[in-house]
Amino acid sequence: MKAEIIAIGSELTCGARLDTNSQWLSIELEGRGWTIQRHTTVADDRAAMIRIYQEAAKRSRLVLITGGLGPTLDDITRDTLAEAFNQPLIEDADSLHHIESLFQSRGREMPERNKVQALRPENSVSIHNAHGTAPGILMNLSDPECTIAVLPGVPTEMKRMFLEQLTDHLPTSTVFVKRSTVRTFGYGESDAERLLGDLTARGRNPEVGITASQAVITLSVTARAGSYDECDMLADGVKEDIRTRLGDAVFGEGEIELHEVVGQQLLDKGLSIALLEGPTTGGLIGQWLTETEEIASRVSYSRLFPTAMSLSNTATPDDKEAWEPALRMQAEKLLDDGTADYVIMSSPTYLVHESGVRQQKGSVIVAGKNLNVIQDVSMTGNLAIFRNRAARSALNQLRLHLKSL
Ligand code: AMP
Ligand code: MG
Repeated sequence: MKAEIIAIGSELTCGARLDTNSQWLSIELEGRGWTIQRHTTVADDRAAMIRIYQEAAKRSRLVLITGGLGPTLDDITRDTLAEAFNQPLIEDADSLHHIESLFQSRGREMPERNKVQALRPENSVSIHNAHGTAPGILMNLSDPECTIAVLPGVPTEMKRMFLEQLTDHLPTSTVFVKRSTVRTFGYGESDAERLLGDLTARGRNPEVGITASQAVITLSVTARAGSYDECDMLADGVKEDIRTRLGDAVFGEGEIELHEVVGQQLLDKGLSIALLEGPTTGGLIGQWLTETEEIASRVSYSRLFPTAMSLSNTATPDDKEAWEPALRMQAEKLLDDGTADYVIMSSPTYLVHESGVRQQKGSVIVAGKNLNVIQDVSMTGNLAIFRNRAARSALNQLRLHLKSL
C-alpha cells in the first residue's frame, strides 16, 4: 500500500534545518509493509499546504504529516487540515486538560496562545502527546479513502508518538517488505550497473538499487511478498545472482566495512599485519584496523611516515625511485624477522595540475608470502576521498589474496 510523508516548516525549506523526520518515518513505514512513494517538504504557507494535503490524500492510502503543531502563529497545520477537508475546528477537551496540567506540573500558567494546540478538525481524534504540549491528529477520510496522521515536528516527540500511540491505529498492510544490502568494492557505479543488467530495472521484485559512497558500491535489495520468509526467499535468489555477476567484488552483506572483513580474515587464519603508511592513506588503515581490540590484535606493527624525506633524506614525493626501495626494505625486514605475515604500505602523495585538471598522486603496496602488488591510486578529487579510496584499495588487495588461500 502506498504512503507518503509531508514535512512542514519554513525552517526546512530555507535550509536552516534538515528534514530528518521523513527519513525516520520512511524506514519505520517500510518495515511495516508500506511503499513510500513521495516526500514533500513545504514552507508554512497556507495555500500550498492545503493543496498538498488534498493531492496526497487522493494518491496515497496513508499520509503522515509532521510539524506546524506549535502554539505560534506560523504553525498552521491544524487549521489548514480542517480547511482542506471542509471541517470546522473544535476544541478537544482531553487535549486541553492535558496541556493545562502539563503547564501546572511545570509550575507555570498556561499562555492563552497554547489553547490552540487543543484544536482539531471535527472528524478526527487527538493523539496523546506524553512528551510535549502538541497533541497529534488522526483523521480517517472515506472519499478518497485515506488515513492522515499529524505528528509533532520535534523529532523526539514525533518518534515516541509514532511508536507509542499511532502504530496500532494505522491500517495494516498485507504486503511485507524486507530490505537487505550487498556491499561491493572494485567497480565503478556504471560498470556495476552494466554487469547487473536487467536486475536493476525499475518495477522488479525484488528491486535492486545502487548507491556509491567512498568507492564502495552498495546494492540494496528490496523484496515485497506475503510473508517475511517469502521476502527472504526472493532476496536470496537475487543476491545469489548478484554474486554470480559481480564475483569477488562482493565483500559482504549488511552494514559491514571492508576493513572488518579483512580483520576477520586475519583473525580466522591467525595471521598478522604490519602497516607502513605514508600520506596517501595518512594512517587511515591503522585507524580502521584498531577500531576493535580483537582486530587490533592482528596489527603487529604500525608506523606513519609524514613525508617522503622521512623515508630517505633525499626523496621527494614524486621521486618513486628514492622512496620506494626505502619503504620496501623496511617491509622486507618486518616480513623476514617474522614480525608480520603481511605488510600494507602507502606512498607519499603530491598534487599535479594537468590541463586544468587537479590530480592527487599516490600508490599502495601490499606484500607478504606469495603476494606483491603495487596499485596506482591517483585520482582527481579531494584529499579525504583520495585517502579513503587508497586505503580501501589496499585492504581490498589483501582481502582478495586472503580469500584465495
Ligand atoms: P513545529 O512542530 O513546526 O513547531 O516544529 C518544532 C521543531 O521541530 C522545529 O523548530 C524543528 O527544529 C523541528 N522539526 C520540525 N520538522 C522537522 C523535520 N521534518 N525534521 C527534523 N526536525 C524538524
Ligand atoms: Mg514550525
